[in-house]
Amino acid sequence: MDWKNLPGGGGGIEDRRGGGGVPGGGIAVGGVGGLIIALIAMFFGIDPGAILGGGDGAQTQPPSQSQPQAQGQEGAATDEDYQFMDRLLTSTNQVWGNVFQQAGRTYTPARLVLYTRGTQGGCGVASSASGPFYCPLDNKVYIDTNFFAMMDRQLGGGGDFAYSYVIAHEVGHHVQNELGIADQVERKQRSARTEAEANSYSVRLELQADCFAGVWGNRVEEQASITQADIQEAVSTAQAIGDDNLQRQQAGRVVPDSFTHGSSQQRAKWFTTGFKTGDPNKCDTFNQNYNQL
Ligand SMILES: [Zn+2]
Repeated sequence: MDWKNLPGGGGGIEDRRGGGGVPGGGIAVGGVGGLIIALIAMFFGIDPGAILGGGDGAQTQPPSQSQPQAQGQEGAATDEDYQFMDRLLTSTNQVWGNVFQQAGRTYTPARLVLYTRGTQGGCGVASSASGPFYCPLDNKVYIDTNFFAMMDRQLGGGGDFAYSYVIAHEVGHHVQNELGIADQVERKQRSARTEAEANSYSVRLELQADCFAGVWGNRVEEQASITQADIQEAVSTAQAIGDDNLQRQQAGRVVPDSFTHGSSQQRAKWFTTGFKTGDPNKCDTFNQNYNQL
C-alpha cells in the first residue's frame, strides 16, 4: 500500500498528542494482554449502548483538570503518524462525500482526534485503553496513536492497510450516523426483549462498518496501490478481532449470543464484500437472515 498517494490536507484532524491527558489513562498499554484485547473488542468502534450510556469505566473517568491542548491543533504536525491519519481521513471523507453526492444526499465530513494517554470527548473520556472509537455525539473518531503499536503486539500483526481498515471502519460508523442508521439501531436496541436480540443489532451495525471499510478500500485500490498482501492484512485483522476469537482467547469458550461485533468469519466476509463490490448497497447487513450473515 502506498498511502502517501492518497489525498491529504482535507482538515478535520485535532492533534491533542502530548496534552495533559487523563491521570492513569496510559497504564494499561503493554500491560495485561487479555484486558487490552477485551477493551479492543469492546471499543473497536461504536457500541451505541455502551458509549451513550457511559457503560464502561474507561469512558467515565473524570476528566483531567489540566489539558493544555484540549482544543487541539489543526494542521500543525508533519510527522508520519499525523500524515497517515490526515490522508486516511481526507480519503475516506472524499470517497463517502462522492457516494453521498451521487445519491443526492449531503455528507458532513467526519473529524478525527489524535491523542495520547487520554482526552475529553463528546462521549466522555477517551483513554488509551479505549481503543479507537467513533463518537456519534460530536462526529469524531478518537484514536490514540499508540494503538497501532499495541495492535501489532496484541493481534499479532499490523501494517498500513490493517491500520487503514481500522480508521475506515470508524469512519464507516460516521457514515451510519449520517444515514440515520445508528439512531435506528439504538432505538431497536432499547426496545429489544433480550440481550441477545440487542446484541444482534450491534453485530449488524459492526459488520456493516466492516463492509463500508471495504468499500473505501475498493475505491482507492489503484490510487493507493493496494496489493493482495494488503487485503490479506486487513482480513487477518478482521479475523483477529472477531468476537469468537477474542472470547476464545479471554475465556476459553465462545458464546455467540453475546457477540457484539460478529465472528472472525463474518468480519472477514463483510470487509471482503465491501472491497470486492465497492458498492455500499451490498452492505445491507440489516435485511439478511441473522444466521446467514
Ligand atoms: Zn465498530
